[in-house]
Amino acid sequence: MPLKIDLHCHTTESDGGLDFPLLIERAAEQGVDVLSITDHDTTAVYPEAYDYAKEQNIQLIPGVEISAVNDSVVSGRGQEVHIVGLGVDINDEALQRLLKENRSRRALRVEKILSKLVKAGFPNLEEQLSSLVKGQVICRSHLAKVILDAGLVKNFQGAFDKFLAKGKRAWVPIQWQSMATVVDAIDAAGGYAVLAHPTKYRLTEMRLSLLIDDFVAAGGTTIEMAYPGLNPNQRAMLVRQVEKHQLSVSQGSDFHYPGTSWTELGVFGVDPQLFTAIWQQFDVMKAS
Ligand code: AMP
Ligand code: MN
Ligand code: MN
Ligand code: MN
Repeated sequence: MPLKIDLHCHTTESDGGLDFPLLIERAAEQGVDVLSITDHDTTAVYPEAYDYAKEQNIQLIPGVEISAVNDSVVSGRGQEVHIVGLGVDINDEALQRLLKENRSRRALRVEKILSKLVKAGFPNLEEQLSSLVKGQVICRSHLAKVILDAGLVKNFQGAFDKFLAKGKRAWVPIQWQSMATVVDAIDAAGGYAVLAHPTKYRLTEMRLSLLIDDFVAAGGTTIEMAYPGLNPNQRAMLVRQVEKHQLSVSQGSDFHYPGTSWTELGVFGVDPQLFTAIWQQFDVMKAS
């Protein structure tokens, strides 16, 4: 049996629905051998999560998903991207400073979003939001949940479509740190910078190709090649990018909650015979 490897998922420390003990238990039930928990802009589950993973015979790779901006004049200004840092030293001070800065920018954005909603005549959802957020990272998905629970929209996606997405009535942008800064911070913390879910940025192949050029120029060496919602044409396009730049590949479920039909821990796999798999850097082996 090939190893089941999942290098992208979330807990209640960011916008996931399970805390890390439950997430690790679920990963074990799904037969995952190697896992990285990659919360948005925090490594709070580490180091406590290592013991839980060990008990479940799971090899845990430290990880984080960092929001960044690619401000290239060529490929498009202000493009938000997510960079997963795998194998980072969670005690690296510069990395932790960068993550903390992102968390503060998130908190400021949320205040502005809440006040935009109030100014537009909607109820103040601050209390509902505080009781929902369990960790130190506030995401728009938390806001979407409280907007939904307040009955302002019919479903979760509606909260983005009506309020939170770019250009909508409660849209507030964040000036993230540059992709190059984030890649450098991950490198300096001894990790590998992975461009997360490259086809989720809704770019044409031309623009995505330029983005990947920029990612490579910034020092990135790895892209995700298996994740939810990737169709065969998109996958073929990513294979062309991998060949062009001699990239390594990663894979992950981007699991957030139980009950989502389109993803589950451990279900997205790349054939490691066909590519240079990033997890080969982590001495992966069957734990039992
Ligand atoms: P953010 O606070 O901007 O980092 O957003 C956090 C989460 O919101 C992401 O992990 C996505 O799962 C979700 N999200 C972002 N944009 C959208 C969108 N347009 N529609 C639905 N979900 C979204
Ligand atoms: Mn998320
Ligand atoms: Mn992401
Ligand atoms: Mn994610």
